Amino acid sequence: MTVTLELVGPTILVHGDHHQRASFLPPILRGELLLVCQLFSEPSAGSDLASLRCRAERSEGGWLINGQKVWTSGARFADYGELIARTDPTGGHGRLTAFLLPMDSPGVEIRSIRQMTGGASFNEVFFTDVFIPDELRLGDVGHGWAVTLTTLGFERASSGSGTARTGGSFADALRVAATLGRTADRSCANAWPLCTRPRGPRSCSPPVWASWPDQGGSDSRVRCSSCSGSGT
Ligand SMILES: Cc1cc2nc3c(=O)[nH]c(=O)nc-3n(C[C@H](O)[C@H](O)[C@H](O)COP(=O)(O)OP(=O)(O)OC[C@H]3O[C@@H](n4cnc5c(N)ncnc54)[C@H](O)[C@@H]3O)c2cc1C
Repeated sequence: MTVTLELVGPTILVHGDHHQRASFLPPILRGELLLVCQLFSEPSAGSDLASLRCRAERSEGGWLINGQKVWTSGARFADYGELIARTDPTGGHGRLTAFLLPMDSPGVEIRSIRQMTGGASFNEVFFTDVFIPDELRLGDVGHGWAVTLTTLGFERASSGSGTARTGGSFADALRVAATLGRTADRSCANAWPLCTRPRGPRSCSPPVWASWPDQGGSDSRVRCSSCSGSGT
């Protein structure tokens, strides 16, 4: 959920076109689209992400994806993945393009990585001729590195400023459960949709949300009673 709300959502806000903003951001802020994973790292492209080899080739109406990602947190549960792929076989970060990939697309295979703790929060994700329509390209062709750096910038801010709330609080979990109808306790339900307003030293979500005229700023629908004192 943190990846969706604090990393990918704001990236769509910055780089998405009007249609992408309209179709992705309201469900993210309402908590209906909870999981978008990061399809960045590859077996030979971790720290050196710009050397990634996953390919996106032009196809009629879109792109065909072939390659592999690794260490993808939450891939098994994600509805979408923010995918960075190479749209030009020559090297360099100027040859990359970003996409929003539906994780149930034919040709996507997800294999869990079993950790020594017994858990399996990471995954390998394989792509075999996976079709993505061009409408799901995020940003211009060849501008994927800018999209990547935007997401990583939000990740840096999110990780660095929020360690006290890593993974979310119990109240966060209760809000999600109430919204999804998984608990009879409605005490936190009025704090949803997600908040865009400041709370103490950090915000419930990145300040960039407040710049979105459709959902942020003075729109009272996105205020959170738990942090601003004003209910929805
Ligand atoms: C909790 C967690 C969640 C993650 N979730 C995701 C996710 O959802 N999606 C995703 O795409 N990735 C994810 N990752 C992967 C993470 O981004 C990678 O760990 C990162 O890309 C580093 O790659 P690597 O592990 O292959 O290490 P490598 O790049 O192989 O690096 C191994 C070591 O070598 C060092 N090193 C590398 N290059 C150099 C150099 N040139 N000079 C000196 N030292 C060097 C590194 O500092 C490191 O110590 C996650 C990682 C963690 C820990």
